[in-house]
Amino acid sequence: MNLVFLGPPGAGKGTQAARLSGMLGIPQVSTGDILRAAIAASKPLGLEADRYMRAGDLVPDAVMIGIIAERLQQPDAAVGFILDGFPRTIAQAEGLEAMLAGMGRRLDRVIYFEASEATLIRRLGNRRVCRAAGHIYNLLSSPPAHPGVCDLDGSPLYMRDDDRPETVLRRLQVYREQTEPLLAFYEARGLFVRVDAEGDVGAVAAALAALVAPQRTR
Ligand code: AMP
Repeated sequence: MNLVFLGPPGAGKGTQAARLSGMLGIPQVSTGDILRAAIAASKPLGLEADRYMRAGDLVPDAVMIGIIAERLQQPDAAVGFILDGFPRTIAQAEGLEAMLAGMGRRLDRVIYFEASEATLIRRLGNRRVCRAAGHIYNLLSSPPAHPGVCDLDGSPLYMRDDDRPETVLRRLQVYREQTEPLLAFYEARGLFVRVDAEGDVGAVAAALAALVAPQRTR
């Protein structure tokens, strides 16, 4: 199944993509994680992306389309994928459409994670991420068993620079201006479904499972 998770920062796309990826046996392709890994490894891509990310702005479309074109060629993506954080602009969506057509593939669903701005801001301020593998925690709703340490791999937890309040407001603005037009883009293609992302991780996971379940049996 070829899925796109669409929604504002803090809507829970990454948390749910990680869970669903395990359930469906298809990779989670998080462009944010790919960029953060490139920064951590001091790769040229990371050096270029870092200044955009710190400012809460988007990395240029051509760079992002190139990353996805390469990633979707990997063998593990042949059975399907969950795109988490891509596309974020109309140009990226058009790039993706052309790329998939060239591979004889297409998207099955675009799942829109809908949550109020108050919820997004609260989640981002309380999000902590593990250094080693990007496992996601929330200090209020899903804290680690031991403060500051990842339950899964023992690595330290940190707050993303771009989750600080100044940058969060910019990211939400960028989302509204550049990413929200994708809702109509995918609605027009009949691919668009909404999930109520206001609830806790379990509730959203259940709603999501119901949305993708019918297609699993095909
Ligand atoms: P995320 O982890 O999805 O919240 O992404 C973190 C940051 O990485 C974003 O604020 C952007 O600066 C950059 N980024 C991730 N995905 C994309 C994308 N598809 N297009 C442009 N920039 C992106």
